[in-house]
Amino acid sequence: MKRNLLIITSLAALLLFLAVQIYMTVSIWKQNEEILMMRYKSLSREGLSLLMSMKKVNGFEKAMDVTDKFAGIVASEKLPLLKEAKDSATFRKQVLAQTYSIIEKNEALTAFLRTYFKKAGYDFDFNAEFFIGYFSLISYDGYLDVIKVAPPKIPGPMVLVNTFSEEHNNFVIEYSYLINLTHKNNMVFREAFLSFLLIAGSIMIVMAVFWITWRNLMEEKRLSGLKTDFINNMTHELKTPLSTITVAGRTLEKEQILNDPPKVLETAKLIGKQSVHLNQLINTILEVSLLERTEFELTRQPVCVDELTHQIASSFLTSCDGCAVIEEDYKTDGIKASLDILYYTTVINNLLTNAVKYCINDPVIKISTASEGGNIVVTVADNGIGMSREHLDHIFEKFYRVPHGNIHKTKGLGLGLYYVNRIIRAHGGDINVTSRTGKGTTFIIKIPL
Ligand code: ADP
Repeated sequence: MKRNLLIITSLAALLLFLAVQIYMTVSIWKQNEEILMMRYKSLSREGLSLLMSMKKVNGFEKAMDVTDKFAGIVASEKLPLLKEAKDSATFRKQVLAQTYSIIEKNEALTAFLRTYFKKAGYDFDFNAEFFIGYFSLISYDGYLDVIKVAPPKIPGPMVLVNTFSEEHNNFVIEYSYLINLTHKNNMVFREAFLSFLLIAGSIMIVMAVFWITWRNLMEEKRLSGLKTDFINNMTHELKTPLSTITVAGRTLEKEQILNDPPKVLETAKLIGKQSVHLNQLINTILEVSLLERTEFELTRQPVCVDELTHQIASSFLTSCDGCAVIEEDYKTDGIKASLDILYYTTVINNLLTNAVKYCINDPVIKISTASEGGNIVVTVADNGIGMSREHLDHIFEKFYRVPHGNIHKTKGLGLGLYYVNRIIRAHGGDINVTSRTGKGTTFIIKIPL
């Protein structure tokens, strides 16, 4: 419960942190954008006043002269005819488009500002934009407004440099000159790079810390689940022989039993068998807990792998009253490997026990040996229930047991394969497993000779 609360709280904190960082990024971006636009506005106004103070012109003189000539021709030749005409809207559009193009072609302010920005050390890549708010042709019989619109609403990325109003012989005009920064986003990004870097860095650090904490929490949760399962399994495992011994003990106390020697013998055997089992269980737990604190101390000696493996398989069959069919195939040609006999026996016994334990048909186990590139390879394959892929990576972990649901109620502590893996590693080797659900499992052990 506490852990869930912690996860939810930290997740909420992380989301809040991300929201704050996003808000900050947007604010920094907007601020820098505004500063940039203001800088370019004042820079271009400075440029314009410089031009005017130097030459007493604003850069549009030629454009206005050409427009005046054009307006004169239009006013004298076409205007009187078109004044009442139905297609006057098209006519106005054409006149306006022509005027725009004349101004664009003939103005000198843009070139001047480019040089001015460059000299001042600023980015001089921009587009000039015009906006004609009022344009009226003057003919002999009065004015004809070609266009008359409200002052422009400057679009976000543009800087309004100035609005000019002029009256010439053949026309009256009011137009705005704007500049459009083509690399504005890049410029803003460059300006605010350090801030963005810090924000990105802090997001990455917080995410990494969160991820590590999250992973640790999940791992802790998994381990605590495994430990709970282990304690339950262990209690169950210990209780079963103990209760058998208790019942058997009580049986022996009964008088009629004492007069039946075969029954007494049978009960005593049962007590003995269960005591051995109990002892084995306790030993496994003790050995594994000892393993946590100390390293393996192997007593290695050269042994014939084929011979030893055969002996282990035979005594396994005897001890379990022929519980399985074991097919043996030894191919190391009597090769000797340096092994700890006792631990090697434990390994093979554990694998054989599992092969029988996790089998619902009649167990058929294939055990084989081979020598391969300086290793001995021992393979134990069964026809048991198998496992799905997701479990294969975990079965060598301490306490891990594959949940078999209701399919197969086997007992165990989840320590056998953990122990096997540790023993093989102590020998400098490794163990691999392949398995198919419902088909069987194969363990492959490799130990350097
Ligand atoms: P235990 O058998 O005590 O549960 P192990 O460490 O020996 O613990 O095995 C871990 C898990 O691996 C088992 O719970 C079982 O689900 C699975 N397993 C081991 N050997 C086999 C096998 N031969 N066939 C199918 N499943 C197996």
